[in-house]
Parts: sequence; C-alpha cells; structure tokens
Amino acid sequence: MATVDHRLPGAPDRTDLRTFDRAGLHAWLAEQLGVDEGLSLRVFKHLWQDGRDDPHSFLRVRRDVREHLARVAGASRLQAETVLDSADGTRKFLWRLHDGHAIESVLIPDEDRLTLCMSTQVGCAMGCTFCLTGDLGLIRHLTAAEIALQPMQVQATLPPGTRITNLVLMGMGEPLHNLENLVPALSVCLDDHALNFSHRRITVSTVGLVPKMAELAAALPVNLAVSLNSTTEEQRRQVMPITRRHSMAELLDACRAFPLPSGKRITFEYVMFRGFNDSLDDAARLLQLLRGIPSKVNLIPYNENPDRPLLQRPTDAEVKAFQHVLVSQGMSTSIRTTRGIDISAACGQLGKARQQLALAR
Ligand code: SF4
Repeated sequence: MATVDHRLPGAPDRTDLRTFDRAGLHAWLAEQLGVDEGLSLRVFKHLWQDGRDDPHSFLRVRRDVREHLARVAGASRLQAETVLDSADGTRKFLWRLHDGHAIESVLIPDEDRLTLCMSTQVGCAMGCTFCLTGDLGLIRHLTAAEIALQPMQVQATLPPGTRITNLVLMGMGEPLHNLENLVPALSVCLDDHALNFSHRRITVSTVGLVPKMAELAAALPVNLAVSLNSTTEEQRRQVMPITRRHSMAELLDACRAFPLPSGKRITFEYVMFRGFNDSLDDAARLLQLLRGIPSKVNLIPYNENPDRPLLQRPTDAEVKAFQHVLVSQGMSTSIRTTRGIDISAACGQLGKARQQLALAR
C-alpha cells in the first residue's frame, strides 16, 4: 500500500507544499501557524496558478508566514531531462526525479483535444506481459506533487492560447495502486484555484484493483477506464497476472456497482493480439461480458516489439471485423490510432526510453 510522502526532495526534514490538495494544505498550515482559510488559499494559488516555488516569493502572504514556510517547507519541481518529438506530433517528456529515477509523460495532440498521458509510479507491480513498464517492476510510488506537476510543467511549455484539454492516467504505473497520492494530485488538477480541469476530462485507468475502484469513486468524480484485454478468465490470466488476485468476473461486478453519473460510461480498453484475443468469438464474448454495464470499447491493436516476439499485431482488416461485431450490436467502439511509436511513446512502450537512457550512461 502506498504511503503519503510529504518530504521535500533533497531536504527531507522540510515539507513539500505541493504534496497537499487545498484542504490538506489548509489543515497543515492551520496546525503550523493557525492561519485562516483565506491565507491558505493564497499560498495554494501561488503554488499552482502562479507556479512559484520559493515561499519568499509568495507576495500575497504575510511576511512572518513566508519566513516560517521558507524555514520548514518548500515546493518541489520535476526536472525535464529529455523532450522527444514524434513525426505525428506526439511529444514525450522524460522527467528525472530527485533520487535519479525517471518517469515519462506523453502529450498527444488530436483534432479537437490535447491529451496528456501521465505516470503515477516509477515502474509498475502489475506485470502485464505485453507492457515494457511492467518489466521494471515497482520501483516506487510517485508523490502527489510528482503526479500533479506533470500537467503543470507540460502546460508551461506550451505557447500562449494552447491548453491541455484532457488528462489520462495511463502512463507508467497502476494508478489505483497509488491511490493515496493520486487522490490529492487529482484534487489539485480538478481545483478551480489550481489546474482547473473538468472532471469530464480526466480518466483514470486500472487493470482491476477491485477494492480500490469504490474508493476512487467515493473520492473523486472522474472517468474510469478498465484495461480488460481478454474475454475469458484463462486468457486474461495469461496476459494480466492481476486476474489471479481479482478474477475478471469480480472486476466486472465492480464495474456494474461503480457509481456512474447519468450519461457516463466506463471505457474498456482492449489490446488486440493476433491469434490470441482477436477472433470473432472473442468479440461476441466481449459483448456478453459487458451486458448491463454502460460501456464503450477502445480497441488497441498491439504495438509490436522485438522484446515480445510472440505477440503480434492483428491486421487492420481483422481489427475492423472485430469492431463490426461490436458495432452491429450497438456497442460504442473506437480504434486507437498508434501514436508516437518512433519515440517509444505508444501504449505499452513507456519505460523503454528510460532503459535506453540508462544503458547509454
Ligand atoms: S499495462 Fe499498466 S498496469 Fe500493466 S504493467 Fe503496464 S503500466 Fe502496469
């Protein structure tokens, strides 16, 4: 289980002010200095709206508070080590963390949206067999600051008038495995005194940490995506070891119980592997499985990788035939276009550049 880490990177006896959401920051400041909510709000806005790190620069805050904060606290920031641009417009940011580890965020432009795919852990414990991040194992959870700083710092690189429109928690890591830090981070993203994203435009993806799904729903009104990728228990166990702990039946029951606001649907991600889960029988079974759940299906043709020679991508015709079965029964279905493959930013590839960089050192 993740713990909430409020220590300032590089100065562990001080507190990182960016690890709190607005309520948490007020509680901490009230305990430290007995300040009122108005003053806490001004500190919060300096951190997230003005992007100020040094408490001495919090000019809308009383001087004694500024001086106290400068002694006992600070505000962390990610260090951008590499920015890679794909020919298709996708941009990958590799952030070097204070302890030498690295994480990635991917900015994906589309016709009417600009989506940031964010990381929540260094590595990942879930071990999905098709995913390069899973090869790293879990190295550590990100702090709330390290999660919420990704959209803040990427936004700061964009030209005036260009704004990130959507956040998807689908980068390195299983977000619900780090729920304790994810919740304050997303509160900051949603807060109109901070990053001010609409809850309709934030999607948290999970492989199916069933007990945490209800906790997420109780904490935040965000969209849910479930990485399903199979239509039988046996098939899913082969590619997603989490199925041994929480069966697919248990996962789908949790989806049925997930409190969706009216008009909202759960997105089911379905990575397609040739000859494994891409048959028309699979498509028919998928429809059966999702019966009764407000759903949409995102088909993701597997991005082939030399590290996984046994896994192959289906042809476009096979993907279309699969989609046709779903659509003919009224299931809302999209096919995800592969983006950023030339910079290892496509689905399942995150962590690869990190390994390459480590080798090059
Ligand atoms: S697909 Fe997601 S949950 Fe699975 S190993 Fe990769 S990062 Fe972890």
